[in-house]
Order: sequence, then structure tokens, then C-alpha cells
Amino acid sequence: MRNRFFAVAALALAVLVGCQPAEGPAAATDAGTAAAVADTAPAANVTSERLSNAASEPSQWMTVGGTYEERHYSPLNEVNRDTVSRLGLSWFADYDTNLSQQGTPLYIDGVIYVSTAWSKVYAYDARTGAQLWQYDPQTPKEIAIKVCCGIVNRGIAAYEGKIYLGTLDGYLVAINAKTGQEEWRKLTVDADKQYTVTSAPRVIKGQVVIGNSGSEFGVRGYLGAYNATTGEDIWRVYTVPGNPELGFENPQMEMAAKTWSGNWWELGGGGTVWDAIVYDEINNLVVFGTGNGTPWDQRVRDPNGGDNLFVASLLAVDADSGEYAWHYQTTPGDTWDYDAMSPIMLLDLPFNGEQTRVVVQPNKNGMMYVLEAATGKLLKADAFTEVNWNTGVDMVTGRPIEVPEARYSRDEIYNLAPGVQGGHGWHANAFNPETGLVYIATQRAYFVMRTAENFVPNPQGTNLGIDMGASFVYMRDNPDAPREFVGYVTAWDPVAGKAVWKSEEHDGPTGGVLSTGGGLVFSGGGNNTNEFRAYDTVSGQKLWSFDTQTGMVAAPITFELDGKQYVAASVGINSAGNYYAPNYSRLLVFAIDGAAVLPTPVSFTAPQLNPPPLTASAEEVAAGQQHYNANCAICHGNGGAARGANFPNLLVSPMLNAQEAFDSIVLQGVRQERGMVSFADRLQPADTSAIRAYLISRAQEQLAALQAAPPIDTAPEPAEQQHQETETSDN
Ligand code: CA
Repeated sequence: MRNRFFAVAALALAVLVGCQPAEGPAAATDAGTAAAVADTAPAANVTSERLSNAASEPSQWMTVGGTYEERHYSPLNEVNRDTVSRLGLSWFADYDTNLSQQGTPLYIDGVIYVSTAWSKVYAYDARTGAQLWQYDPQTPKEIAIKVCCGIVNRGIAAYEGKIYLGTLDGYLVAINAKTGQEEWRKLTVDADKQYTVTSAPRVIKGQVVIGNSGSEFGVRGYLGAYNATTGEDIWRVYTVPGNPELGFENPQMEMAAKTWSGNWWELGGGGTVWDAIVYDEINNLVVFGTGNGTPWDQRVRDPNGGDNLFVASLLAVDADSGEYAWHYQTTPGDTWDYDAMSPIMLLDLPFNGEQTRVVVQPNKNGMMYVLEAATGKLLKADAFTEVNWNTGVDMVTGRPIEVPEARYSRDEIYNLAPGVQGGHGWHANAFNPETGLVYIATQRAYFVMRTAENFVPNPQGTNLGIDMGASFVYMRDNPDAPREFVGYVTAWDPVAGKAVWKSEEHDGPTGGVLSTGGGLVFSGGGNNTNEFRAYDTVSGQKLWSFDTQTGMVAAPITFELDGKQYVAASVGINSAGNYYAPNYSRLLVFAIDGAAVLPTPVSFTAPQLNPPPLTASAEEVAAGQQHYNANCAICHGNGGAARGANFPNLLVSPMLNAQEAFDSIVLQGVRQERGMVSFADRLQPADTSAIRAYLISRAQEQLAALQAAPPIDTAPEPAEQQHQETETSDN
């Protein structure tokens, strides 16, 4: 009833703002009367009761994972194996932020709410596509210098008439769901430190729960709960101990401090809670993951090589008080950027002869973990992708059986799998109760690890501690070394601990997954592929695809309106062919027999390797490498050859031709809208000149390699082109 009531009002509103329905019945309504109704109809009227019973309202998508259990599953089945071939675009809406779009939309009572890059939020009439409002928090663009992995936002929460958003600069904002007006904002981080927020908040028992990012820089991770009405602090759980001289917040921090040495607190320790949060109602626990330690290289973080609790861990705390319940550390003494931050889901599975409520996480470290939800006891741990840092998990101690060489050093280089891109990133996974399978957004990725030379921690900068130039040299000298970074969907049996099928592979990061009662698994094809796909849940056969004109990494959702099933997703990433490509950042909404057509894309040819002659001295090139590794490599990749969703490959950049053009971007910030802000606070003109010289030297080196061995159609790409990229999988 509520749906129909709102739908009439929304249709009338669309007429008032001059939008025509893209399809659907032409409702003859008295616009004036309906508008009056619209004024009083509730918007985002999501109560705690509705959230608890979200599975009984399959027409809706009220929280980022679909329900508290975050299974990204809907029983809707109008779109199914037989009808999916008729699935077409019903309507689309363009965003005004052409960066990577990672937000999972919400659908509530006739309205789609979705967040985009730069922490903006849009509301659309789901039937017509009419934009109801847009909210822009006016985040200062300078914040981008604190961002490791893109100007992104992964989602929002809805509760009692408000939409909750975490902004890149660390505010929790409550937005009036009806009007789009900001009601209040609360700063959740120390703005003087290197914190950012990119994740979706969750609303749990009237509390908004959200963490933050920054473990690539130098912060102390925590998860916070805030009053949904007022924004007041309710509880805060730190994930790593602070300075012992200042005392510990609780016994767990005192215990954790015994697993660290050195002065870890000076860079914060890391362990940020930058995405995965689920609410286990049965045990009244909030279960969440923690990020890597800071810096990545444990040798410079903790000279004694302890476990460093609670980095790279799953933690459970009481939902009312934040009091510690249990933890399981997926990567003790992490030195590989193995955030335990991939999405978590709650399932009921047969273990030891009985249905057991379990926490499931396909981890960034390549291992699929199944834990008892009440206690955190490890039930299953298996590699779901290429893993070469361990040979398994000791099921008695719960610890990984490490490959000793994987703990790289300055002298020992290791070609790590999964690389820091992860065997799995932040991308949504899905469960399907009919098959009992978990559909994992999987990556197979390598990354060359080596300790940096003479690393000096910098509290105001990036702190990785590894040599970001190691890959370039290693791959040149080891042309046969594995170097893939591919994405695909894995159908995984979580009880047997094995893959049932794998989809085709595509270039670079994977896409979020949705599963439905129609026997379908939906997923985007990462970057460069420009495809939205549906697979058969049982066979893995690709049954449908749609040309999205741009890459797609965000999670799709599905909902029902007027008895019709829709599938919706954000698309948009902005590199292709190793360079900035036109980005068609949009919301796409599909239904059976949808007939909307996207505008014809402009033609685009990526620039080719064409560097100017190198005139700089070897000393200047070496200085440029130092500056590059400290400031640029985290986004633009080893040796400048990024190949991901957000960041251009600098080796093919026309900006290499002129220092003035180069500095207009690096020092003057003319591309800050794209997320490339000014580095004038960190770099002098002599520094940027050296960086350009370094990039020219790398590009010349690559060009020489190409000319020495011209590629043929069947040959792999040159090593540097094909190799690694840090972004989109991490935060
Ligand atoms: Ca990380």
C-alpha cells in the first residue's frame, strides 16, 4: 500500500518538474492533489523493524547489503534464466562526477538513492528516472591528497526519513530524504590527521555505525557509533593500541599492545575500518574487518615482527556498548597490505552436523574464511584464488602456514599473490540460498614486494615502506614472471571449501555481485570491458550482457515497483587503454522489455608511448624516482605505469612533453575535479622537474624494450604495461 501511495505522488511530482515517464502506465491524476499527497508521504521511512525484517520486503533494497546479513541476494524472479534475454534499459541518469562510481544504490518506496564520487547523493523517482534532489556536501577538493585509492563513495544508509552519508573529509551527514536538505553533520575524524571516509554507514538499533580510511598514510583505526537523531557519540572501538604511556581504553588494547614493538603509535598503527560491517542480530554483535598495519612493511612498523593486533582482523563487539566479544586475525603480522576489509556476510550453514550461524569473508589475502558467528571460532579457510604467501591455514591454531620468502626485505624481492590489489577488494559478494553458493568477486593479482631503501616515516604523507619501483625492474629482468591482474566471478561452495564454477576473466579489478531468485548472478566486468553481465547461478553460463560504455565495478541491486522487477547499478570509471577515457558515469536501471537507448559515445583513442628525449642527469632521474615513489606511486603505480580504473598511465601522458603543462596539474591543481589535486605543499618545482625526468626515463626504457621486441598479435603486452596497479581494491 505504501508503495502505490508513494508511486502516485512521485509520478505527479515528475509531471510537475517537466519529466515524462520513460515507460509504464500513463496515470491520469490530478497533479495538484497528488502533489499535496507527495508533501506528506514519508520518504525513506525505514524503521529498525523494517531493517530487521528486510528479507520479508523483497521489493525494497533498504541497506547496502540488501539486509543486515549482507547477502546481496533478492528472491525476485521476474527476471530469470528464461526472461533475462529481454532485460533492457528502462531509464538512465547521468551523474556530474566523472570519477570511479562505487556506490551501491538503495531503493525505498518508489525512490532510488545513490551516492557518487565526491560524496554526493542523488534521489530519483524510480519509475520515471526524474531526479528528485541532489545533495553535495561541498567537500574541499584538497582532501584528495589524503586519499589512497580514488575519490570514491561506496554507499549510504536510510533511517526514519533521513539518508546518512560519510563524506570524504570525515563528516557523517544526515540528509532529509524528502528534500535533500542537510539536517546535521558531525565530524567523525581528527581533520589534522590523514583520515578519509569512503564507506557506507550502517544503521543498527538507532545508531549510525561508520569507520574511516587512512592506513596507507598514518592513522589509528576505529569504528564509531553515533546517535541517528542527533549525531552524538555513543561508542568508539579502536582497532590498534595507542601510546601505552597514555593508558589503554580497555583490556583488549592492553592485550593487543603486547603484540607490538617499537613506536607504532607515532604513525597510528593503521587497522582502519574502511568498509566491511555487518550486524548479527541473533548474537547482538557488530562484526567488522580491519585494515593493514601502517606502514605496509612490517619490518619498519614493528622490528620484532609481532602479530600486531588487531590489524588485518575480523572483530566482533556488542552492538549496544561496543564492548569486545571476539576477534580472528586473518593475517598475523601483516606485511602485504592484506586488509580484512572485503565484504562480510552472515549465513546459516551446516557445520559439524548442525546448522551454524557463520561469518563468511573472502579475504583480500586470497583466503575464504568461515567463522562461527557467536564465538569467532574458525570453521573453514581455503584459498579461493592464486595464493603464494601461505600453503594453508593450521585449523588448530587458526594461523596461516606462511611461505617464509613471502616476507620480503630490501635484499629479498617477492612476487606476491595476491598482490596488494587483493584476491578480493571492497566489491560486493552474493549468496544464493537455492544453490548454497557464495558468488565471489574475485581477482588474481601479483605485486612485487621489496622493502624501500632508507624509508623515513612521514606523519603527513604516504607511508608504505616498500619500494614502489621494484616491479619495473623485476619484471624487466624476469620476463616470464607471472604478472596478471584480472577479475572474475567465482561460485564457491562455502561448506566444501571449493570453487564450483568460474566466469570468464577480464582485465583489472572485478565488479560487485548480485544474486537473485531468478537463478541469476549479475556483475560488472571491471574496467575496459564495459559490460554488465548476468550468469546462470548453477552453470555459470553467461546469459545476458549490456554495453555500459564505461567500466563497471559497483554492486547492482534489484527491486520491484508496480509489480515489475528492476535491476539498477552505477557505472563509471575513467581509464581505458591505460589512460583517461571518456567516462559515462551514470545510474542504469533495467527491466524486462526496457527500450531506452544510451547516447552514442564519443570516439576515443588512448595516447601511445611517445616520450620526449631524456635530457636530465642520472642524479635528477634518481631524485625524481624518490619523489615519485613517495608521492605518486600509490595511485599511478610502479614506475608510472598505472593500469587501473581511476588513474592514468603517466608514461603515455602528453604532459611529459612540457614542464609547464606537467606543473599546471601537479603544482597548480588544474585537474582537481578529477581528483588530481595540487601537490604544491609537498613538492617544489625542482622536484616536479625531477619527477618528469624520471617518468621520461621510464617511458624511454619501455619504448626501447618495445622496439627491441615488437609485439605481435598473440604476444603478451610488455611487462610494464601489463603489470600492476594499486588502486580500487584498497583503502
Ligand atoms: Ca590497505
